[in-house]
Amino acid sequence: MNKLRAMVTGGAGFLGSHLCDALLAEGHSVVAVDNLLTGNAANLEHLRNEPRFELRRLDICEPFDCGKLDYVFHLACPASPVDYSIHGIPTLRVGSLGTFNALELANKYGARFFLSSTSECYGDPEEHPQKESYWGHVNPIGPRSVYDEAKRFSEAVTVAYRRYHKLETRIVRIFNTYGPRMQINDGRVIPNFMKQALRGEELTVYGDGKQTRSFCYVSDEIEGLLRLAWSQEPGPVNIGNPGEFTILECGQKVLEVTGSNSKIKFMPLPQDDPKQRCPDISKARSVLGWEPKINLETGLKLSLEYFRQAVAGMKATRSA
Ligand code: UDP
Repeated sequence: MNKLRAMVTGGAGFLGSHLCDALLAEGHSVVAVDNLLTGNAANLEHLRNEPRFELRRLDICEPFDCGKLDYVFHLACPASPVDYSIHGIPTLRVGSLGTFNALELANKYGARFFLSSTSECYGDPEEHPQKESYWGHVNPIGPRSVYDEAKRFSEAVTVAYRRYHKLETRIVRIFNTYGPRMQINDGRVIPNFMKQALRGEELTVYGDGKQTRSFCYVSDEIEGLLRLAWSQEPGPVNIGNPGEFTILECGQKVLEVTGSNSKIKFMPLPQDDPKQRCPDISKARSVLGWEPKINLETGLKLSLEYFRQAVAGMKATRSA
């Protein structure tokens, strides 16, 4: 494979930083851009002395340029329900203005463009499991709409650049992904449960805990993203783990893996919280030859040391 110069927007985020690592491991040069609204420069600290890597702190909602590029990976966006409800307008701005600016750069340099989209495009789905052909069931004025509609709009703009400018584009729809470098306080279910279990606090289950999610370990997710990036398939393609768990089952797994005796505390279900979520990955299997290898229990075990350190870091910060 030719060595490329790639840009990763949202490169300091959980997934963005893992993608930077994977592209560098393939021998490419990477420029990560991030305004650090929800990203964390510490995720890239280990690349400080890597000559093929640079981090630029900038807001992609303003026009910008980082020099000639071969591939633009557009991941920038607050991605946890807590983050995008706090940063609702920046979420809509990055999905619209940010996506235009990233596409303009790809168009200027004749680069390929990769959009990280989301299973949230399916909303609270009435079709199960979700295939790429499903148009979704999204409340356009609900609390999640800032994220869902931003990503649906991003898909529409990406497809328009493909249609009108003949840009080479790829769209991935990412389902719940977890692993090291998730922000311990981002409010998502796995960081919350891991933190609570490790601190001996009650696990906060929203609603009756019977809603389902399908959790993909980060190394599987990144492998799927790269397979799509280097394929000829424009997408959208679902990349996620079809192993489906209720949130109560997920809590149980976290208790087993951490060896914690924490009890469960039931709390109100947030508005428009999807009742079920499971990817149909037949397209990824047939077109990309991809499927995940790591089940939830193994992935939680692989993440345990990271979460232990993150929780210890919180304690140290508090006592300081
Ligand atoms: N959830 C929960 N307790 C928590 C955090 C989340 O029960 O402390 C539930 C949430 O209501 C949702 C699921 O776990 O049904 C996944 O939530 P998350 O925020 O991780 O991602 P989502 O898939 O909703 O974007």
